[in-house]
Amino acid sequence: MEEITVNLHNHSTMSDGSGSYYEIAQAGLDAGIDVIITTDHNIFVQNNDKYFYRDGKRVLLLIGEEIHNPENPRQNHILILNYGKEISTYASDLQILIDVANKAQSISIIAHPFDQGVTFLREPSIPWKNWDVKNFTGLEIFNFSSEFKSQSKNFFQGIKNILNPKSFPVGPDENSILKWDELLCNGFSVNAYAASDGHQKIRKIGPFRYIAFPYYYHFSSLNNHLYILEELSGNLQKDKELIYNSLKTGCSFIGLDLVAPTRGFRFFAEGEYKKAWPGEKIQIRNGVTLKIDIPRESICRLIHNGNILRHWEKIKSVPVNVTEPGYYRVECYLPYRQKLRGWIYSNPIYILKG
Ligand SMILES: [Zn+2]
Ligand SMILES: [Zn+2]
Repeated sequence: MEEITVNLHNHSTMSDGSGSYYEIAQAGLDAGIDVIITTDHNIFVQNNDKYFYRDGKRVLLLIGEEIHNPENPRQNHILILNYGKEISTYASDLQILIDVANKAQSISIIAHPFDQGVTFLREPSIPWKNWDVKNFTGLEIFNFSSEFKSQSKNFFQGIKNILNPKSFPVGPDENSILKWDELLCNGFSVNAYAASDGHQKIRKIGPFRYIAFPYYYHFSSLNNHLYILEELSGNLQKDKELIYNSLKTGCSFIGLDLVAPTRGFRFFAEGEYKKAWPGEKIQIRNGVTLKIDIPRESICRLIHNGNILRHWEKIKSVPVNVTEPGYYRVECYLPYRQKLRGWIYSNPIYILKG
C-alpha cells in the first residue's frame, strides 16, 4: 500500500473562502501534501479537477461540494464528493440527497456534527440535527474550524488561539467520537474523516486586518492519510479512482501533523489467507493478528467495539492477537506544548466470525 495526504473540506472564492483554486494549490505545494479537496457551499464547479506543478512537485486539486438547505443554513451541512455535477438541488431532503449520491458511488460526509457557536466572532453554531438519515459514508470527527470555535469561549482565548495557532487543537471532538462509536456498535460501517474547513478568512480587529489560519497552516496541520493500492501516476482519471476508492472505503487514518508528522503510521490485520486495512473486513478463522506501527513512540489505545481493549503508555510497534469479532481501531496521543494532543485516529478494521 502507498500512503498519500489528503486535505479535505476547503472553501475558495467560489463561496466564502478568500483564495482562488490556483492560490489554494500553491499553498498545497508549499505544504507538500498530495491532494486538496475543495467543497464550496451549494456550488459545484465543473471541470476543475486538476494537477498543479511547481519545481518538480505536484498537488492534485479535486472539487467537491458542501450542501445545506438554503432555507435553513445553520444546521445539517454535508459534503458530497465524486458526484461530478451539481447535487445541491436535493438539499431540501437529506435522505434523498444521500441516496442519490450513493447510487452514483459518491461519498457523503456529515460535516462538523457538534459544532458550537462563538458569540464574539459572530460565528453561529452549525450542528448536524438529522440523525435519522441512513447510509452516509462517514462523519467529520475532527473539524478544525469547530475545534477553534469550541476552544475560543471568549475574546481573549480567541485572540490567543489566532495569534498562536499551534496552541489549541487538542484532538477530535468527544461527542463526534461517541457518536461514531455508537453508529459502529449498531452495525453501521461509518468512516471518520478530518476536515480543515479552511477559508483563509481575512478578519478585522479595530484598525488591524489579519488572515486567520492561512490555507498553508491547514495543509500542514490536519490531514487524512489514505492508503492507496498503487502510487499516484499523474493520470487524472486513474488517480481520482484510486483516491475516491480509498476515501469511500475508509482506508485511511486522521493525522494531526501539526504536532509531529504522522506519515508512516500503519494499522492492518493479518489472517490466515489475507490482510485487511482500515475500512476493510476480514474473517477470524483461526485468529487474526493486528499490527500497529507508529512513526514515533507515543501513548496508544486499541479500541474494540467502543471499549479500550489495550492501552500502552509508550509504544512504537506492537502486534496483538485477537479472537473476538467486532471492529478495532487505534488512537495515538502525544504531549505537545504542555497539552496532550489526539495525534492519530485510524478508521476501523472489521473482524467477522467464521
Ligand atoms: Zn459547513
Ligand atoms: Zn465548510
